Formats: sequence, C-alpha cells, structure tokens
Amino acid sequence: MNAREIPSAIRNGETTAKEVLETHLEAIQNREEEIHAFNLVMEEEARNEAERIDALTAKGEDPGPLTGIPVAIKDNICTQGVPTTCSSKILDGWRPPYDATIIERLRDAGAVIVGKTNLDEFAMGASTENSAFGPTRNPLDTTRVPGGSSGGSAAAVAAGFAPLAIGSDTGGSIRQPAALCGVVGVKPTYGRVSRYGLVAFASSLDQIGPFAETVADAALLLEVISGHDPLDTTSIPEPSLDLSTALTQGVEGLRIGVIDELSGGAIEGISDDVLGCLEEAVQALTSAGAIVERTSVPSTVYGLSAYYVIAPAEASSNLARYDGVRFGPRVDAKTTSEMMVATRTAGFGDEVKRRIMLGTYALSAGYYDAYYGKSQKVRTLIMNDFASAYKKYDLLLSPTAPTTAFPLGDKTEDPLQMYLQDICTISSNLAGHPAMSVPFGKGTDGLPVGIQVLASAMDEHTMFRAGAILEASNQGKS
Ligand code: GLN
Repeated sequence: MNAREIPSAIRNGETTAKEVLETHLEAIQNREEEIHAFNLVMEEEARNEAERIDALTAKGEDPGPLTGIPVAIKDNICTQGVPTTCSSKILDGWRPPYDATIIERLRDAGAVIVGKTNLDEFAMGASTENSAFGPTRNPLDTTRVPGGSSGGSAAAVAAGFAPLAIGSDTGGSIRQPAALCGVVGVKPTYGRVSRYGLVAFASSLDQIGPFAETVADAALLLEVISGHDPLDTTSIPEPSLDLSTALTQGVEGLRIGVIDELSGGAIEGISDDVLGCLEEAVQALTSAGAIVERTSVPSTVYGLSAYYVIAPAEASSNLARYDGVRFGPRVDAKTTSEMMVATRTAGFGDEVKRRIMLGTYALSAGYYDAYYGKSQKVRTLIMNDFASAYKKYDLLLSPTAPTTAFPLGDKTEDPLQMYLQDICTISSNLAGHPAMSVPFGKGTDGLPVGIQVLASAMDEHTMFRAGAILEASNQGKS
C-alpha cells in the first residue's frame, strides 16, 4: 500500500493503524539485521501511537492527513526523551529534552514514528559508511551503499520498512541516497521546512525533506512538514505547501533547461548509463509537451569547491558545542582543556575531524579571505547564474548522482572521490533552491538512476509537475 492509501483505508475500516504498523515491523524484523537502516526501532512507542490513532478513528475523529502512516526519522532530528545520536559516539546516551518542530507536526497529522535511521556521522558523507554504528546497506543490492548521508532513511523506504521517511540535505544528502535506492527524495527551498530541532551541520545549507516511494507520497509528507515556524529564525513566513494540483497538471508549455556542465559537459565523471537515462528523461518531458534544451549554468563547476570550504567552516563552529560538558560522554583529564581534547578525540570519527580541521583552517586569520571569503563570492556567482537561468527556464534538469550505487568500501580511502558524489546536488544548496530526485531508468548494473529536477526558490509546485511526469513515464517503461 502506498502512503497515500493508508489514511483512507484506516478511515474506511479496511485496516487499522495497528495492522499497518505490524506489517512494517514484520518487514523490519525480516531484513533489518542485513540492512541496518535504523539506529533505533521505536516498537513500543509506535505501538502506543498506533493504538491512540485507532482509538480516535473509532470515535469518528480524524487524526489527520498522515493517519496511521509509519514514518522513519533521520537520527539527527531531536525526539524528546528518545536517543538522538547523529550516528556519533559523542552523543552517546543523550536524550533531547524537546521534539523538533517537524516531529510535532508529524504527530499532529496522525503519523506513527517507527524509529531513528542511520546516517553518516553528523550527516557528513555520501555513503552512510561514516556512521559510528556501522554502515547501512542498499536493499536493492546489499554489497552496495545506499548513498548518504540519509542512507538509513532511503534504505528504510526502499526496503518497505516505512512508506515515508525524513532526511536532511546539506549538499545532497536526501537526493543522492534517494537516487541510489530508487526512491523519491526532495530538498525543499531553504526555509520552507523548519530546522528547529535538526542538529546543525552547516546552518546556511541544511534543510529537512521527505523520502517516499512515489512523487505523490513525497508531496503529502512535504505538505505536512512545510510552513512557517516562529522557532526557526530562517523559516519563511509562508503557509504550508499545497501540491495537490501539481501532481496532475502536466508540463505542457514548460521551458526546461538541461544543465550542460552537470550532464556530460564541463564536469567529467558522470557515467554513460546515467547520461543515457537523462536523455530518455528529456524525451519523456518533451513528449509530454515541455520545451527542453541544453543550457549553461557556468559557475556550477565551482560548486563542489565552494561547498567543501563553506560547509566545513560552518560545521567547525556548530560542532564546537560537543565539549564533554553539555552533551554525551566525557573523557576525564587533568585540566578542562585537556578533558575537551580527550573527549573530542575519542568521540568524533575521522571524517568529522577532517571537516573540523578544514573548517577551522579556512576561517583562521590570514586564510579567511583566501578560502572562506572566496567561497562566499563563488556562492554569489552561483546564485546569479541560477537567477539568469530561471529568467529563461521554469525548471532545470540534471542527473542526481554521477553513478548508480557503488560497492561498500569503494570510496572510503579517498575522501575526494566520496565528495565527487555531490557534484550535481550541491549547487541548489548553495543557492537555497528546491530540487528533487525521481527514479528514472536503470544503469547497466540494473540499479536505479535518479533524475534531478531543480526549481527556483519557492517553486516546489512546478518542480512536482515535472516530477510527476517523469514518474509516470518511468512506470510506463517498466
Ligand atoms: N555528501 C555531502 C557531505 O558530505 C552532503 C552531506 C549532506 O547533505 N548532509 O557534506
């Protein structure tokens, strides 16, 4: 059953929230040991929640648009009283004293939270291999990674553990794992979804968004979690999205630009089978009535370099709070500063340490202008280039990831190779724009390929119009 079908089936009495939950818990029971999508399965809490929802529907009340839908939550989103680890040893044992805004919204909409999903430590990575608790495996081929950093959430949806999941996307961490696991993943406009209660990685780039099996299900989840939140100062003062008409509107007359640099142009390393799928996606959109042509967004070429200065710079500041005093375990030492060094040395993994060092270096006196300042200028160039592109086009298109899912261990020795996974996704974070990944076609290895639809700020509506067409045409093919 798709997510969208669950609430009505419960309201009609065809099933109950309890029954829906048990089916998913059974799927988890069967395959979780092999996949490791979760850091924590919240069986008891989920059962209580499902009972509460069934009691409401029995009284004729409507628990909301997500009635009885199991949802998996990335483990960098605060859940009151429930461990929130960011897949890091440094947060071991920490239980947040409050819920993230999106958790409250999900509950208010009748969703059943099933667990906290695995991620690259503090969301730094593209394969979920940087988790302190071991990697997640791709449900479609368990020798391969699910992508990252929200690999646990993507895998949970792909494995049928939950029809919906929540991720966070700082440089592609929703879209790339969605592509590698063959599900839909959406990064909304920066500020569209409240970040209150999301553990900060790079605050000017972080954004929460949905994973789902279908475009319509992703729209449903995004509608619930979007909308202004006074607790997040960067939240856009707009009501929740209504995407219902976007799903059936089609793309007739839309002008769509394929970003040349990310599609076999200036940037190397996008594999031929992925480019083949992109070509088919172009044809699908053209036959649906869109005007599609190649276009240049020149500064996207520098996106990766700018991101890997800006994101570590912000991370080095955000992660300063893990000092052995305020959160998690402490390694004792003679002086306070030695205690902090010992705690951080023991608590952080290699990639997190690398980012903190890179970021601290880029922000230090003497290097600030050369690295951080320069990267901010590049960020402005990217914004300007997108602004000109959106004068001519309603949407832009590219592959989501350069390849299909790669084998575990393939890129762990060479961080740069791992960073290159983000080449197509990073620019929309730097610009703050929405982008989504829709499964479209397969690589030569039989694994799914994701096509990325990019839109200008606040235009999720048009983005979902193209997403729905790509999905329909992809289903028509297989
Ligand atoms: N792979 C990117 C990184 O490691 C993006 C991560 C993310 O979006 N959270 O920084």
